[in-house]
Amino acid sequence: MAPTVIDRCKLAFVCGLFLLLGSASAAPVLVVGHKNPDSDSIFAAISLAYLKSQQGTPAVAIAQGKPNPESQFVLDYFGLQAPAVELRVAGNQVMLVDHNTYAQAPDDIKDAEIVGIIDHHSLGGMLTDEPVEVLIKPVGSTNTIIWQLYERAGVAVPSAIAGGMLSAIFSDTLVFRSPTTTDSDRAAVESLAVIADIKDIKKYGQQMFSAGEADLKTAPIESLLQRDFKNFDMQGNKVGVAQLTAVNFALLRDRKGDYLSQMQTLQKAQGYKSLVLMLTAIESEGSELLIVGENQLEIGQAFNVRLEDDSAWAAGVMSRKKQVIPVLEKVFDKLKK
Ligand code: MG
Ligand code: MG
Ligand code: MG
Repeated sequence: MAPTVIDRCKLAFVCGLFLLLGSASAAPVLVVGHKNPDSDSIFAAISLAYLKSQQGTPAVAIAQGKPNPESQFVLDYFGLQAPAVELRVAGNQVMLVDHNTYAQAPDDIKDAEIVGIIDHHSLGGMLTDEPVEVLIKPVGSTNTIIWQLYERAGVAVPSAIAGGMLSAIFSDTLVFRSPTTTDSDRAAVESLAVIADIKDIKKYGQQMFSAGEADLKTAPIESLLQRDFKNFDMQGNKVGVAQLTAVNFALLRDRKGDYLSQMQTLQKAQGYKSLVLMLTAIESEGSELLIVGENQLEIGQAFNVRLEDDSAWAAGVMSRKKQVIPVLEKVFDKLKK
């Protein structure tokens, strides 16, 4: 519903109040990553909040959820604190990192003032009242972009934060195996490894991934399905795409049946048109795609695979944003016509 004149006046009054209070107390800018935060979201919030603060804009990192086991390993390894979990941002100035859609932003984002977006995903259709600082680049990780900002600004990255940033780039690019990887990501990791004093980055990457998959065998299926789950609106259809990644692929494959039945339950309970889960094998460089809901046939065809038991192996498919979302968007565009 469009806001009435009275609503606008009320909003202007409230915003004015915040501005007054804001200038008195200088509330810090909140820096936040997406829902179901991954390592890129957690460490982009931390690294950007530090940079902004160094540049004279007080900023704090928050998160829309607790760190996943991989991110927790990284936090512990480098002695960093997890950002406070904060689901409400109304009335605050907010910078979004690692996302730029309403579906992945805090639920009350429309009642906050977005002052910045730093991301590496496709434009997601957000609107703002004021001009906003936006930096979106087709690189493997938000932290690569933030590293470039540090360089440009001549601000030194603290060693622990450098470790977090490097881990986030590793995590998003699957240690450079994802097709989203660019030379900028490799260059950033090279520099950050020196600052973080990581001698053997390959070994460190392995440690990080095995920490991340330690509970894949035992954790409840519901929570694993939500760990890296993203919602999308595709031509008015509610579509969910989750991804789980492992070096030890058996940990994922062995629970495939459980994932499928959990997906069916969720699809019906929450009205998803389609639900896709990517079980990604880092070593074999591909994903088992689990697909439930409507349009299974069309989706399977779009990936050039034949589904058996609601699933199929898609060789070379590792990136949700580069190899899965565009394919699904096309399927739903076509179905609409
Ligand atoms: Mg992310
Ligand atoms: Mg990312
Ligand atoms: Mg990811």
